[in-house]
Amino acid sequence: MGGHEEEAGGEEYLFKIVLIGDSAVGKSNLLSRFARNEFDTNSKATIGVEFQTQCVEIDGKEIKAQIWDTAGQERFRAVTSAYYRGAVGALIVYDISRRSSFDSVKRWLDELTTQCDTTVTRMLVGNKCDLENIRDVSVEEGKSLAEEQGLFFMETSALDSTNVQAAFEIVIGEIYNTVS
Ligand code: GDP
Ligand code: MG
Repeated sequence: MGGHEEEAGGEEYLFKIVLIGDSAVGKSNLLSRFARNEFDTNSKATIGVEFQTQCVEIDGKEIKAQIWDTAGQERFRAVTSAYYRGAVGALIVYDISRRSSFDSVKRWLDELTTQCDTTVTRMLVGNKCDLENIRDVSVEEGKSLAEEQGLFFMETSALDSTNVQAAFEIVIGEIYNTVS
């Protein structure tokens, strides 16, 4: 479960959150937008960083969100169990302009269920909502899949920053509610 440690000076929270979803849906860019306010137009191979830590304050408490990004291994359907170990939150990402990535969501949810505790806070994220002109999955379809599966839902754009902060903060806030 989440690292919730009582210390002499107060409390510390460390939440591990994983990003999953098909290759090229924008997972790495969602993380770089959230953690560094950066966006890469080139889909570079992810450099060997496993996670980035971002601090968020809730109820006057400092929360460290340790957000894990795949190193591209999702292409080979070989995301390891170490990736999921200890996760208390997950963002399942698809690309609203590519239906096949939406069709894969169920497979990712199955993997999450196999690898993690059922109490993991889960959010379905339809990324690239700036690509309205080539949209391939409607907002309603995203919403109804999320409702059916009991997930939070949000459409985001790592490119223009729409809802990126909000998506991570909702997940972090909900994890905080369940552990505090
Ligand atoms: P990952 O494989 O899931 O980590 O995806 P990346 O973050 O590497 O992104 C794949 C490609 O999609 C890159 O060319 C990005 O520039 C592009 N991309 C990522 N997020 C967005 C977005 O919100 N809007 C648009 N238009 N392109 C995006
Ligand atoms: Mg990536």
